[in-house]
Amino acid sequence: MESTIEQISKVIESSDNIVFFGGAGLSTESGIPDFRSVDGLYNQQYDYPPEQILSYSFFKANPEVFFRFCREKCLKPILNAKPNPAHLALAKLEQMGKLKAIVTQNIDGLHQAAGSKEVLEIHGTLHSHTCVDCGKKYTLDDVLKTEGIPHCTCGGIIRPDIVMYEEGLDSSLLEKSILYISKADCLIVSGSSLVVQPAASLINYYRGNKLILINKDPLPAEQYANYYIHGKAGEIFEQIMKYVDKN
Ligand code: NAD
Ligand code: ZN
Repeated sequence: MESTIEQISKVIESSDNIVFFGGAGLSTESGIPDFRSVDGLYNQQYDYPPEQILSYSFFKANPEVFFRFCREKCLKPILNAKPNPAHLALAKLEQMGKLKAIVTQNIDGLHQAAGSKEVLEIHGTLHSHTCVDCGKKYTLDDVLKTEGIPHCTCGGIIRPDIVMYEEGLDSSLLEKSILYISKADCLIVSGSSLVVQPAASLINYYRGNKLILINKDPLPAEQYANYYIHGKAGEIFEQIMKYVDKN
């Protein structure tokens, strides 16, 4: 009998229009905590849950706490983070012409660091920042040189270019993601609890019969998946790439 990993590897091997949809779990092996794992940000002690701190109304009302959390829990972990075997495998599948796009909820830039080109960051990125008053752009390095609430030369607050909770997603990016997913022959979903909307609903646009779910913890969406496997994405992608490279 073929193992699940062999079945998944064969499907990936035989596909040439793969789309990947991922979340925070893809970067935990790079040392960036996710939200909902046992060592995720939800289970660390704060006065507020992370989704409240990273909401627009909280940012407006408590910018000091927002930026303290952002610096310590978001910016600091991504500074020294390197792509792990999952990011590298996806970049390689794109290079081989098999994977067409990555749709990610992550804001850490690790897919680009791995060499992926078509990366749709539907929740934005921590690698660029914008003054809320005059729109001037700042890099992550610019912001790291400041302390507390970062301020623009005009006096306005500089915010990260992430989609905060309560904010809408960029509609053209969403449309592009839907187009990629609806045309994909194979959709790989990994490292997401699939609870953050509207991102999680994007996988409903997939019409094929090669939906692969790779996740550490079990998910309700497994009932719709054609293949699913529990484990660490980095380790599983390493095994998949061994198979793909061999064949
Ligand atoms: P989540 O924290 O809700 O869920 C993570 C999922 O990944 C869990 O189901 C967990 O079992 C799984 N997981 C953890 N480590 C894994 C591994 N090594 N291999 C495979 N699966 C693993 O994450 P989410 O669904 O992406 O939602 C969180 C939100 O927070 C997103 O909107 C995202 O933008 C943001 N976020 C981003 C980062 C980042 O950029 N790295 C980090 C934390 C949160
Ligand atoms: Zn400004």
